[in-house]
Amino acid sequence: MIKNVWLFLPGNAEGDASMKDTLGGKGANLHEMCRIGLPVPPGFTISTRSCNEFLKIGELRKEVIDEINSALSKIEEFTGRKLGGKGESMPLLFSIRSGAKFSMPGMMDTVLNVGINDEVMEVLAKKTGNRRFALDCYKRFIEMYADVVCKFERSNFEKILNEIKGSRKYDTELDENDHEIIVERYKDLIKKNNIEIPQDPYEQILEAIKAVFRSWNNERAIIYRRIHNIPDDLGTACNIQMMVYGNLNNDSGTGVCFTRNPSNGEREIYGEFLTCAQGEDIVAGIRLPEPIGKMREIWPETYAELENYCNILEKHYKDMQDVEFTVENRKLYILQTRNGKRTVKAAVKIAHDMVEEGLIDIGTAILRIDPTLLNQLFIPVVRESKKKNNKPIAHGIPASFGAANGLAVFNSKEALELASKGVKVILIRPETSPEDIGGMAKSAGIVTAVGGVTSHAAVVARGLGKPCIVGCSDIVFENQDHVKIVTEEGPIELPKLTEITIDANDGSIYLGRLELDEAKPDASFYKLLLWASNIKKLKVLANADTPEDALRAIKFGAEGIGLCRTEHMFFEGNRIDILRLAIIEEDREEKKKFLEKLLPLQIEDFIRIFEIMNGLPVAIRLLDPPLHEFLPKTMEEIENFAKRVEIPVEKIRNSVIKYQEANPMLGLRGVRLGILYPEIYETQIKGIFRAAKIVANNGIKVNVEIMIPLVVSVAEVYYLKNMVEKIYNKELSHGRTERIGYKFGIMIETPRACLIARELGKLIDFASFGTNDLTQTVIGLSRDDAGKFLGTYLEKHIFKKDPFISIDKEGVGRLIEIAVQNLRAANKNIKIGVCGEHGGDPESIEFFQNCGLDYVSVSPYRIPTATIASAQTVLKE
Ligand code: PEP
Ligand code: MG
Repeated sequence: MIKNVWLFLPGNAEGDASMKDTLGGKGANLHEMCRIGLPVPPGFTISTRSCNEFLKIGELRKEVIDEINSALSKIEEFTGRKLGGKGESMPLLFSIRSGAKFSMPGMMDTVLNVGINDEVMEVLAKKTGNRRFALDCYKRFIEMYADVVCKFERSNFEKILNEIKGSRKYDTELDENDHEIIVERYKDLIKKNNIEIPQDPYEQILEAIKAVFRSWNNERAIIYRRIHNIPDDLGTACNIQMMVYGNLNNDSGTGVCFTRNPSNGEREIYGEFLTCAQGEDIVAGIRLPEPIGKMREIWPETYAELENYCNILEKHYKDMQDVEFTVENRKLYILQTRNGKRTVKAAVKIAHDMVEEGLIDIGTAILRIDPTLLNQLFIPVVRESKKKNNKPIAHGIPASFGAANGLAVFNSKEALELASKGVKVILIRPETSPEDIGGMAKSAGIVTAVGGVTSHAAVVARGLGKPCIVGCSDIVFENQDHVKIVTEEGPIELPKLTEITIDANDGSIYLGRLELDEAKPDASFYKLLLWASNIKKLKVLANADTPEDALRAIKFGAEGIGLCRTEHMFFEGNRIDILRLAIIEEDREEKKKFLEKLLPLQIEDFIRIFEIMNGLPVAIRLLDPPLHEFLPKTMEEIENFAKRVEIPVEKIRNSVIKYQEANPMLGLRGVRLGILYPEIYETQIKGIFRAAKIVANNGIKVNVEIMIPLVVSVAEVYYLKNMVEKIYNKELSHGRTERIGYKFGIMIETPRACLIARELGKLIDFASFGTNDLTQTVIGLSRDDAGKFLGTYLEKHIFKKDPFISIDKEGVGRLIEIAVQNLRAANKNIKIGVCGEHGGDPESIEFFQNCGLDYVSVSPYRIPTATIASAQTVLKE
């Protein structure tokens, strides 16, 4: 018989932490915490399987209901409390909460205080001697049950609440009498709207369970799953747990804390709490919570207990925990623990520190990092000098890290619309709710007026790796298009689309666009990278065209340059004009003269790169793009150029027409340029060898590699090999520098090159798969045009992934495998790598490693990603 309902009582639970598939994350951990003796209110979990069954047949099966009944009796027996409030002790009320395998904060539903009705409310009032509290529970129950079960929106109650509150700011200022009126008016309202809230506590429980199951399929949960790649068929578990009351009095409260700081990873209990409140109040940002340090002041013993449990939990789970707790009359209950969501900055620091503390090993630490997120570590920061000279217009609580600038917008829909058009926006909201997820994901940064570090906005922004400031109470919302910022010097008007800058490192908001600088990751990042380097199998080289790129690459541990695209060197200063003249000139000798003018400039570039790389290999790729890319395009550009260089417009236009191509990606580019216009490649090769000579003469090691793009035939390779050899013999094979060698290699970017790899392999020292072009040529899918329709292909699941991001293993990958085998068969010393964009994609890296490649070459910022991903592939083996 399949078990549907799993009971947990303090010290004795039927499930455990390993059962997330069945009990969901929240459920599994509640069971585990009971097992390790933490103070958890008793309850039971209904399995995810039951949810899926319910969603299919639309009702709870009899076996499930029988098991629920049995669990309810056991809880009555264990607690001595009775459903419906009969008997001597407190009535038994329940919280009914969702909890899927993967945490989906706030996306699904919860109903608290289930089991309350007119009669039970009176018993609760009598037993606690606190009628205000009992009414507060009833009020909350009506709001939540109507909303979650009856789909009668919670906002319907807000009008009544606000009327009774009048000028009072917080619900806590309402007294017993106010609550009495509120509850009566709530009841009238639901009656008028024909909303049925059953008086029978048992019926309430069953209906709430069904509603929680249904919430698996609400729109925001579906969107969240899509964003976070969570499968739709997992279903949620449902946890039915005895209520404990943080809203009982001022010696009670509720809070959320992390066992370490989730923004920066520092070792400290980080979180917040609210006195006289129930759990939902914190996340909803109804009142601004107090920092957790305040709890230490007012309830020192309870705080010490919390600290102790945080330690126990971290040691037990060996990871940073996100803990929810409630205090009832200073007695602490732990209501939830899960691995805390954290920024990638915190993830790196925590993984590193836990190794140093002996809690986890290096392999575990590396496996905990999501390599695709590492680029977030370079989210810019506000330039220090700009910070000094500009005064923030407002301050809030920093909830993640990094800075952003953009246009202020005040609702998520607008943020989404503008951002989809490429406009950078900062979303400012009173608070966020799960409906805002779409707009938040597209905004450059997020600010809220209320809510603390565990509010919805903070949690989601950290997950998305966005700069986020919360609790910025100086912001006053006037309407959808306008906010006001209250400052000591008077109000500042902020109409929508005003440009602002936010700094989530310290919570400052500035008017205007402040310049941002690259972030500097801390020592723990470099240490982790070093650990990963010692484990990884693939060499990680850099795609770097400039000295700045080369420096950055070295900083992140690059083992050389695997692709130096020379075309970018021609765009600096007036170089482009000289190159254009060389292209336009028909006379070969004249052409050479222009190219000679570029030679010293190219030599300079190569010298700097060789110096920085200091003996590490530098693979320089000879010119690749079709020549029209260098020529002026519009008539205006043509005229301007003609004026600058004093040649007739007509001559330039003729040249532009001559070099136009119907399909430039498959036209006169790559090695074909070297064959049609050898003087271009000859100048480049000369420049490379002369630079190498100068550097070597200065006593610095050089390791030159010359790489030919887009080859399709053995004859092309011969032709180029001869050309390089000839120039080498002329430039380098004599004098003091004769020992500078060089390596000759090709890029494999066409199916033909893959298929003749055995022949090519004999002629070369190295081969690098240009997987951008290889994907284009194998699939027959233009790099430049695919973006226009790939989205639909992905939506309709025709392609599982964008083949320009993650290697198409069955097609492109298969050809790579064939080519690698043949290259190795032809030349056992050959070095083989990848220098297309796929080299920075973890899934592709795993594939390349398993294919037996020697290296990947990636843009400098992706070196950490490639390093960690390669180490993870080894660790997973
Ligand atoms: C490639 O095609 O993968 C490559 C690295 O070359 P480029 O992107 O410059 O064409
Ligand atoms: Mg290419």
